Amino acid sequence: MKKHNFYAGPSILPPYTIENTAKAVIELDGTELSIMEISHRSKEFIAVIEEAHDLFRELLNIPDGYSVLFLGGGASTQFAMVPINLFNKKAAYLNTGSWASKAIKEAKLFGEVDVVASSEDKNFTYIPKGYKIPEDADYFHITTNNTIFGTEIREDIDSPVPLVADMSSDIFSRPIDISKYAIIYGGAQKNLAPAGLTFVIVKNDVLGKVDRPIPTMFNYKTHIDKGSMFNTPPCLPIFAALQTLKWFKNLGGIAEMQKINEKKAQMLYNEIDRNKMFKSTVPDKNDQSYMNVCFVMNDGYENLDKEFLELATAEGIVGIKGHRSVGGFRASLYNALPIESLEVLIEVMQQFEKKHS
Ligand SMILES: *Cc1c(COP(=O)(O)O)cnc(C)c1O
Repeated sequence: MKKHNFYAGPSILPPYTIENTAKAVIELDGTELSIMEISHRSKEFIAVIEEAHDLFRELLNIPDGYSVLFLGGGASTQFAMVPINLFNKKAAYLNTGSWASKAIKEAKLFGEVDVVASSEDKNFTYIPKGYKIPEDADYFHITTNNTIFGTEIREDIDSPVPLVADMSSDIFSRPIDISKYAIIYGGAQKNLAPAGLTFVIVKNDVLGKVDRPIPTMFNYKTHIDKGSMFNTPPCLPIFAALQTLKWFKNLGGIAEMQKINEKKAQMLYNEIDRNKMFKSTVPDKNDQSYMNVCFVMNDGYENLDKEFLELATAEGIVGIKGHRSVGGFRASLYNALPIESLEVLIEVMQQFEKKHS
């Protein structure tokens, strides 16, 4: 019934999430009301958001002293909200792509930004190494998975200053050592829920250190104090997120998701390496994203993009056209992408190679 969905975001969700959410759009269990028309202050919705907060914490093993927030505004609003809440004198950023650059642009509105390293010299096809994080920075910001360029920092790095991470496209793809971070945020539409929900994990004691007055809605403390219910939260996406979280748990949790993700990523990168028609855009294996796999036509086969895309489309594959700043192809292998869809893609790549041998 369905396409093989490789979109980068909004992106594939588990059938479990879609079916349960569709049901709740008709009627939220026993309420004789739709999830879309029920008060966020009703006991039924409060049960939903509380369970979602709890399960989010449980699956990511979030320690005491951290808050989980469900907000609106997208990850892009967090580009500003982070400096609003943390920036005093200076911030440090790692520039690994378009999203990181956008985060840097917002931080610069608040003062000195030290871009400790950048991979822009090679169109963001690698993760910079050996940089030094200034110890006098208020925080250090990284983008763990670069959705557009297909690079990923798959380890929880050490930072001498509070570490802030945009994890929009790799949250829940692997277990994280939350204690190494001060703030983790992301849009939910890559690996968790439909668009409209932004998650933020905040270490409570990093807040309250700036002197500027903070508008109420932009102050993390507002949302911490009210359990994400200061104003109307995105109720439907939160309901859907809860379904996805339950699906993760039923599959064995995030360590299990990581195993499956490693397997899927290896399958595709192995095929790209083996297949003479294609090459990866990220040469260093350690930097290759497990969530967004970027590849292009190999030398000698340039200009065959369109033909490959047509072949893939005919097999029910959608969403593999690369971002315009990279070209070629991008296959997003989020948690919900079934191995069967990946097998279809690999088969099409092999057919294409045969056709041109
Ligand atoms: C998609 C994405 C964003 C932007 O998210 P919005 O919710 O659309 O603002 C930011 N950072 C990363 C890494 C992304 O993948």
